[in-house]
Amino acid sequence: MFYSRMLIPTLKENPAEAEAVSHRLLLRAGMIRKLASGIYNYLPLGLRVLRKVERVVREEMNRAGAQEVLLPAVQPAELWEESGRWQIYGKELLRFQDRHGRDCCFGPTHEEVITDLVRREVHSYRQLPLNLYQIQMKFRDEIRPRFGLIRGREFLMKDGYSFHVDEADAEACYQAMYDAYNRIFQRCGLRFKVVEADSGPIGGSFSHEFMVLADTGEDLLASCLACDYAANLEKAEVVPAAANPGPAAAAAAPEAVATPNVRTVEEVAAFLNVTPREIVKTLIYETEKEPVAVLIRGDHEVNEVKVKKLLGVMDLTLAGAGRVRELTGAEVGFAGPVGLNLPIYADQAVAALAAAVTGANKTDHHLVRVNPQRDINITQVADLRTVTAQDPCPHCGGCTKILRGIEVGHIFKLGIKYSQALKATFLDEAGQEQFIFMGCYGIGVSRIMAAAIEQGHDDQGMIFPMALAPFQVALIPISLNDAATREKALSLHAAMEEAGLEVLFDDRDERPGVKFKDCDLLGIPLRVVVGPKTLAAGNAEVRQRRTGETIMAPLEELLPYLQDRIRQEMNEKAEI
Ligand code: ATP
Ligand code: MG
Repeated sequence: MFYSRMLIPTLKENPAEAEAVSHRLLLRAGMIRKLASGIYNYLPLGLRVLRKVERVVREEMNRAGAQEVLLPAVQPAELWEESGRWQIYGKELLRFQDRHGRDCCFGPTHEEVITDLVRREVHSYRQLPLNLYQIQMKFRDEIRPRFGLIRGREFLMKDGYSFHVDEADAEACYQAMYDAYNRIFQRCGLRFKVVEADSGPIGGSFSHEFMVLADTGEDLLASCLACDYAANLEKAEVVPAAANPGPAAAAAAPEAVATPNVRTVEEVAAFLNVTPREIVKTLIYETEKEPVAVLIRGDHEVNEVKVKKLLGVMDLTLAGAGRVRELTGAEVGFAGPVGLNLPIYADQAVAALAAAVTGANKTDHHLVRVNPQRDINITQVADLRTVTAQDPCPHCGGCTKILRGIEVGHIFKLGIKYSQALKATFLDEAGQEQFIFMGCYGIGVSRIMAAAIEQGHDDQGMIFPMALAPFQVALIPISLNDAATREKALSLHAAMEEAGLEVLFDDRDERPGVKFKDCDLLGIPLRVVVGPKTLAAGNAEVRQRRTGETIMAPLEELLPYLQDRIRQEMNEKAEI
């Protein structure tokens, strides 16, 4: 491919709007351009990378026995009403009407459409199992689109759905997808971790996320240093500390003390000369059912995902000042659990306290010497806080660390949630009508492209793994004015293309320095330079983008050498 004929509008300066490295480099390399917030054009080079990711995904999905389909992006509201999600899905769902005034949406995901297809076409156990996937643009009107392709509004997703006669078969497919995903991310040259994920408030079944490790990641995960346990922080379980003495009876009854204008944990700790560990925070939440109080120790953070799951609710929002006053009789900062007439959910660390400080439900007052088990009418004690790096691994008791990651894949056991709602059934061997068991499996195809750059870059630009690079080889002639060099470079280019190498021939009338800079920016793994001097010696210079290692290859060995390197790098596994 001739560089001069391609649209590769590289930028010398860093675009001001880009916060993430991948966003900045994708813009600088002329791979993407923004059309509107979270909506991007893919230019020729960017599309080549995207297609490479798609290819890996497609090959591994097909190998695992899945079949490709393509479903419509525009979906009728009726299907979403049937599943109940037309009401539940918030503003992320882009809704509009067609010319007849029919409600529609632009698909953010396709459970409804695929379940509808399958309920029409599948009637017998003989037609199952089925594993169908597509690679398609989704639209989610994200509150905060950012980091370029990492959180777009329009983005390319691989979404797959499987259909089974029973739970055991669905689980076998889940395992096959788990394995396929591992192969996909390995082949993409990514450093990643598989984590246990929350399966949503209604879920109850299991779910795993695939996280590309990067300091810029929006997700936090707890990872054990000793065993292979890893979990999204939303889900990671807290093991109650073994050294916890348990609730010894506090000698005296609670007592109210005046704490004028002292509201936060830090202020209370300083004012009463106690540590945050001895303070209980009382958080008043509104839910779609009823308001509740959640008790958390002062040095801990509440985990709202765990709270939602325990309560079985979708909406959980902190009550406003007015509501807090109404429900507790006090201003925010002075709510407390003693005598509070609400369902009270206490974190297990709170229940283990012997004498704690809490709000007094009276403005400018706190209670001291509260013994939660004795003095609070606790509805339920549960694990309601977020783990910290100090918490032991729930599997082996080892030390954990907290890492940042970018979610690139998510697999999910759905059970009969959608088949029940949409009445997707089949007749079993005994002629009985049964709901179809389902699983769903997503991969952020465009997000992978950005995640690979977050992991692979340096000051000069991108460092693509061989499997995702827009071209495998860049061929740079030092001087095109030199007839011999020009001839040789052209014939090398032809020979490389003939041999099936993906080569970008930089035939631009630019100084070598400019070409080298662009080649580094584009992250092409192998750079071949030919000039009068090297050619006279019968050589070409080959440099590896990743290591900077440069060798002189005799011209007659150049092609086999490049083919060998490409093959080797395609099979390399990234070190975690
Ligand atoms: P997130 O928590 O990052 O919003 P999600 O849980 O909403 O992701 P899923 O519904 O599981 O995502 O979608 C499957 C995959 O699609 C995700 O694992 C992710 O890689 C990708 N994805 C989701 N939202 C976006 C987005 N706004 N931009 C790019 N990729 C996305
Ligand atoms: Mg999301």
